[in-house]
Amino acid sequence: MQRLFIAVLLWLSCSSSAYADKPHVVASFSILGDMVAQVGGDDIELTTLIGANSDPHAFSPSPAHAVTIARADLVVINGLGFEGWMERLITSSGYAGPVLMASEGVSPLVTGIPAHTDFHAWQDATNGKRYITNIRDALIRIDAKNAAGYNSRAQAAITELAQLDAWIKSQISSIPKDKRRLMTTHNSFGYYERAYGVTFIAPIGISTDSEPSAAEIASLVDQLRAEHLQAIFLENISANRLGTQLSVDTGTHIGGTLYSDALSDASGQAASYTALLRHNTQQMVAAMRKNN
Ligand SMILES: [Zn+2]
Repeated sequence: MQRLFIAVLLWLSCSSSAYADKPHVVASFSILGDMVAQVGGDDIELTTLIGANSDPHAFSPSPAHAVTIARADLVVINGLGFEGWMERLITSSGYAGPVLMASEGVSPLVTGIPAHTDFHAWQDATNGKRYITNIRDALIRIDAKNAAGYNSRAQAAITELAQLDAWIKSQISSIPKDKRRLMTTHNSFGYYERAYGVTFIAPIGISTDSEPSAAEIASLVDQLRAEHLQAIFLENISANRLGTQLSVDTGTHIGGTLYSDALSDASGQAASYTALLRHNTQQMVAAMRKNN
């Protein structure tokens, strides 16, 4: 197995010469991959490890992923504890190049009992601008001759995110304050909550791998009724059994699908990072208008 793996590695390092003029960048998951693509444009070769509609919480890397890392010129991760598997993957690949933590410089949200850092920082468009800036700087460090392209594409992305941030704030402000409450199936909107003033009630903790007990479900049903929430949201990455059950138990309707940790496929409603923020906001605003 080990020998086969090394053979594949050698073969790939020979065949990669076709891309020798473009830096090969690896991004850990689809939302980050889109940001890297926005800034890198045609000047890079991009590989994203965890694709559209895939749950990053449930990811486990394979030898093929180590091969991809081994031939990278830059690896881009979210950081804040999101990619717990990355360090071991990098060690096993032998990769010794730069690793960019795209969230570097954002103000981390510490939440929960016991307290932990929430890693879903991309849900705040202002943080997204910081990601773009960090990606731009990292690309220029490995490929200075194309700095002009990285600069101009990053500037366009930052302008779009600034406009989007203002639009989200105006959408939320159109909802009366006491109606700004939503229920989702996993607690990935803490940064959105902090930035835009919406309260999220999430039955599952920070990770998608924990299942609530029957008693927890019963208390959620009570909570849904007490809060007069009219909709529960499902997520594209989760097994949505819980949300469906809560909906049946309470007569609450399913508000739609929110995209938290992964993009939709290319033909879907959240095929890019900005489309994701826009789609989620539209869905949430429509549901919150119906809250009592
Ligand atoms: Zn998550």
